[in-house]
Amino acid sequence: MINVSGLSKRYGTHLAVENANFRISKGEVVGFLGPNGAGKSTIMNILTGYLSLTQGEVKIDGFNIMTDPELAKKRIGYLPEIPPLYLDMTVREYLYFIYNLKKVKFPKKAHIDEIIRLVRITEVEGRLIKNLSKGYRQRVGIAGALVGNPDVLILDEPTVGLDPKQIIEIRDLITKLGKNHTIILSSHILSEVQAVCKRVIIINRGHIIADDTPENLSKTLSKDHSLVARIIGKEDDVMGVLNSVKDVKSVECLGELESGSRDYHIIPEDDADIRADVTKRLAERQKVLLSLRSNELTLEQIFLRITGEDDMQGFFKKEEITEEVIEEIKEEINEENMEGEEE
Ligand code: ADP
Ligand code: MG
Repeated sequence: MINVSGLSKRYGTHLAVENANFRISKGEVVGFLGPNGAGKSTIMNILTGYLSLTQGEVKIDGFNIMTDPELAKKRIGYLPEIPPLYLDMTVREYLYFIYNLKKVKFPKKAHIDEIIRLVRITEVEGRLIKNLSKGYRQRVGIAGALVGNPDVLILDEPTVGLDPKQIIEIRDLITKLGKNHTIILSSHILSEVQAVCKRVIIINRGHIIADDTPENLSKTLSKDHSLVARIIGKEDDVMGVLNSVKDVKSVECLGELESGSRDYHIIPEDDADIRADVTKRLAERQKVLLSLRSNELTLEQIFLRITGEDDMQGFFKKEEITEEVIEEIKEEINEENMEGEEE
């Protein structure tokens, strides 16, 4: 659906994107993850035809964005970082305006009605955009991107500046839209991308430095399938037991981190999954296993490892929403919906 090869972009002397290559298939939901200034918006602006490229080729559904811009752009709905909303229009007026601008062929009212319903802005469709909350404005921006029913949606930082409840609502909307669209969204927040995307393209200083599923990134980039086990028993005995397990390459005692037990770092041969055998053997020899955890890295650690920049840690802490907060907010939203239905 999207085919990018050898893409570079230069602003004056500054090389903002260098030799980017990726393909995105129909139906994929892909996240561009990277700190501010990485080049995410630049790539998005090029994909949507808003910015020219310095070198390389971009094809949307087979159409070259430089030589066939009309046909390529028709397939894309774009939510820029700062959506160009006309504040003195009502929501419906704005969507009609976009409809005319895009020269859409579907029956006007029915098409806009459907979008309004889909992004759930029915209750504000007659309001002036300037009087809407930021969450609603973002929905209106997404509604605008959906006008003309493009296959591809490109959403630049769709949740930036929203409160946690609004963020979750927009995430749910993106997940819903992902069932019928190919989506690229950008974010500088790790949890955001993990929550909605099945594939992550990590961008740093204008370079694509990783491209994979969140799970695979953890597995392949960490290259560390070792385990840490906390076990009760005499050190020599436990070492003997662990060393007798199939596919165990080496064992190191990390010392007494919890009184009465010791921690052991167990390294397997190649990529062997030794968790079941370790647990079984310890039970057979009557050693009490208090905990067993894998040493796999989180996406955050991987990001820091591959960028080699530890000053980036701050980016990931800022706007993270914990699972508990998500649950709480979802309940709140459900309650509101139920109240709405009763009326
Ligand atoms: P991101 O969206 O990941 O935050 P951008 O694509 O906006 O990153 O920016 C990438 C780099 O290009 C940054 O160093 C930024 O300062 C630079 N840049 C972006 N737009 C322009 C522009 N219009 N003129 C000059 N430099 C720009
Ligand atoms: Mg940006």
